Amino acid sequence: MSLVTAENLVKDYVTGDVAVHAIRGVDFMIEPASFVCFVGPSGSGKSTLLNMIGCLDPPTTGRLTVSGTDVSTMGHHAAAEFRGEHIGFVFQDFNLIPVLTAYENVEYPLRLVQKWTPQRRHERVQSLLAAAGIADQADKRPDQLSGGQKQRVAVARALVTNPELVLADEPTANLDRETALRIIELMRQLRDEFGTTFVFSTHDPKIMAEAEVTFVLEDGNLQRQMREEVESHE
Ligand code: ADP
Ligand code: MG
Repeated sequence: MSLVTAENLVKDYVTGDVAVHAIRGVDFMIEPASFVCFVGPSGSGKSTLLNMIGCLDPPTTGRLTVSGTDVSTMGHHAAAEFRGEHIGFVFQDFNLIPVLTAYENVEYPLRLVQKWTPQRRHERVQSLLAAAGIADQADKRPDQLSGGQKQRVAVARALVTNPELVLADEPTANLDRETALRIIELMRQLRDEFGTTFVFSTHDPKIMAEAEVTFVLEDGNLQRQMREEVESHE
C-alpha cells in the first residue's frame, strides 16, 4: 500500500475577490521508504503541496490519504496529533531553537511526548546525532554551527520520534551546492537505515537528480518522471 495517495487534489487561495489556483487537480502516489522530490520554479505550488501532505493546510477539494488515514477533511486538533505521530519536518531556514544546544534541539520533540524515559531519550538522541554525523557538535548552539551542520541537526530532530514520513521544503536553498548535495545524501542514507520516506522540494536540477522519483510541478499541474527520464534530459 502506498504511504501517500492524492486524488484530484485542488488548492485554491481566495483573497478578497481573487482566487489563486495553486494546485489544479493532481494525482500521485508515494511509496513507503521512497526518496521523492517535487521540483518546479518559484510559485509552481511546491510548498502548497508539501503543506497539504504535511497536514498543515487542508485541500480545497480532492482526497488525500497519508499512512492509511484520509487527512483531506481533518480538523486542526486531529491534524496536529496526526503530524506528531507520523510526520517530521525539515525547513529551508533550519528553524532550530537558538538558546538550545544541538543535543537539546534534537531532544526537544521527545520532551513533548511523555512516554519516553530519560535514559531511552538520551540513547535515542545520541544515536540520531551519530547517524547525522554531528555527535561531536552536540554541545554547540546553532550560532556556533555552519549551515550544513545546522541542517544535519534539523534532520536528526525530524527523525527522532521515528516518523514514517519526513517532509523537507527546499531544505538546501540556503546551502552551497556541495553542502546541499551532502545533506541530500545524508537523507538518502537515513532512508536506507531507518526505512523513512523522504519527500523534499527544490528548484535546483542538480539536487533533483539525486531523487529516485521526481514530480515536476508547473503552475499547479503535476508530471511524474522516473530517474532514467530525468537523467536523459540533462
Ligand atoms: P512554490 O513553493 O513552488 O514557490 P507556492 O506553493 O508557495 O509555490 O505558491 C503557489 C501559488 O500559490 C503562488 O501563485 C503563490 O503566490 C500562491 N500562494 C501561496 N500561498 C498563498 C497564500 N497563503 N495566499 C494566497 N496565495 C498563495
Ligand atoms: Mg515554496
